[in-house]
Amino acid sequence: MVVKSLMISLSGYTGFPPKDPFIFKRFAVSAPHLKWFRTFFLLLAPLLTAQTSDYMPKDNINTDILIVGGGIVGLTIARELSQRRADLSITVIDKEPSLALHASGRNSGVVHAGFYYTPDTLKARFTVEGNKLLTDYCLEHGLKLLQCGKVVVARDESELKMLSELKRRGDANGVLLEMVGEVELAELEPNALTTGKALWSPSTSTINPGEVVEHIAANLKSNVRLLLGEEFLSAPEDGVAVTSQRSIGYGYFINTAGLYADKVAHHFGLGRKYTLIPFKGLYMEYLDPTLVKRHIYPVPDLDNPFLGVHYTKTVDGKVKIGPSATPTFWRENYSGMKNFRPSEFAEIINYEARMFLSNSSNFRKLTFEEIKKHFGKYLRRQAARLVRSVDIDNFGSFLRPGIRAQLIDTDSLTLVMDFVVEEGERSMHVLNAVSPAFTCSFSFARFIVDKIEGSL
Ligand SMILES: Cc1cc2nc3c(=O)[nH]c(=O)nc-3n(C[C@H](O)[C@H](O)[C@H](O)COP(=O)(O)OP(=O)(O)OC[C@H]3O[C@@H](n4cnc5c(N)ncnc54)[C@H](O)[C@@H]3O)c2cc1C
Repeated sequence: MVVKSLMISLSGYTGFPPKDPFIFKRFAVSAPHLKWFRTFFLLLAPLLTAQTSDYMPKDNINTDILIVGGGIVGLTIARELSQRRADLSITVIDKEPSLALHASGRNSGVVHAGFYYTPDTLKARFTVEGNKLLTDYCLEHGLKLLQCGKVVVARDESELKMLSELKRRGDANGVLLEMVGEVELAELEPNALTTGKALWSPSTSTINPGEVVEHIAANLKSNVRLLLGEEFLSAPEDGVAVTSQRSIGYGYFINTAGLYADKVAHHFGLGRKYTLIPFKGLYMEYLDPTLVKRHIYPVPDLDNPFLGVHYTKTVDGKVKIGPSATPTFWRENYSGMKNFRPSEFAEIINYEARMFLSNSSNFRKLTFEEIKKHFGKYLRRQAARLVRSVDIDNFGSFLRPGIRAQLIDTDSLTLVMDFVVEEGERSMHVLNAVSPAFTCSFSFARFIVDKIEGSL
């Protein structure tokens, strides 16, 4: 496929295999040294055609509900729907050959408590309820859950005001939270370092996100069909979706395509004022698991959707540091040039450049701050500010990164901080399943199913 797109971009020709065989001739006359390239191309063409022609369309199918995207959001919606409506057939498709390859399998695994957000936000409501529902799900099914709690520490006196604001928000959202002094903090987490006060959140915990996703998928009811390796391509007419494998006739369409949710919505004429830009999160491992007993977070900059470099205690007792949140240049830009798409690159860099120039959502500060975290030294320094002692030799290597799908309002060029959904006549599009959507997922699924149940 890479070779194929390379050849397409070299020739500037968008159809493959070429319908016009003379296209190569036109290249040949313009530069003699391209003769070799032409010969090579002609020899290679049948091979490449053969490579793409092993595609065998599968039988078309019909389904009452088609869900595009089998991340935590799509799967919990499928689960909720199938529990409420055993009479409906539900099909979930995902373009990847296995589950949890994107955000749902590449996050911190923290089950948040819900004190960062003001009570008027969807995030506050879904995080508080989602924490309880996800915790219950893990306990009921014996999935790994580390109920370690978390402390939020102030790096200097200027952060105490914001710490109090977090407490106010938590109280308003009904979250169990305690403001503690330095002595109490030392009892809770001996290695945490704060200035005067810290916030203690006993209901923050950790799960293994990949395990949760796999468990939900494996235990879906029999009216749900999960098709992997099947990519949504277009919606040529109402009630019909074309995928990489076939056409699927549907009664209702749900878009939970994560990093591509905006693109899918655009096929339905929805989400037009939005685009998603990717933010890459890097983690570093810390080799001594006894460094901390609980999660340690800094006081966040609440103008920015990310929570800052923190210590996460994983379900198996390890310690992870991070993540960063650097604007990146294509959606699945996990490493090197993998998954590079020129059109995506051009579009994303255009928005990032415009946000940088206009400095909307304080984008310049965010970019400079986050880029520095790509360098291990700065990330380590940020982490060191949250603890009393840390051994420089125990900082390990970078771990598997994750990429957040962050929605941008293209009119105001601002980052959208809360969940956004848009509804068509018989489609629903989840445009901003923003962090902590993993924590929120069970609650969010109820919200979506409540919304669409009347139309089914
Ligand atoms: C670094 C990082 C740390 C985070 N930490 C936390 C945390 O600690 N706690 C928390 O609660 N949340 C956290 N989050 C947020 C959380 O992981 C995400 O919000 C959540 O996983 C989003 O789920 P999703 O189902 O919308 O997206 P995804 O998991 O990305 O799923 C979308 C799916 O759609 C598929 N897809 C895309 N396009 C198509 C198409 N055209 N056809 C078919 N399939 C398609 C993809 O293959 C993918 O599997 C974090 C996220 C990141 C990146």
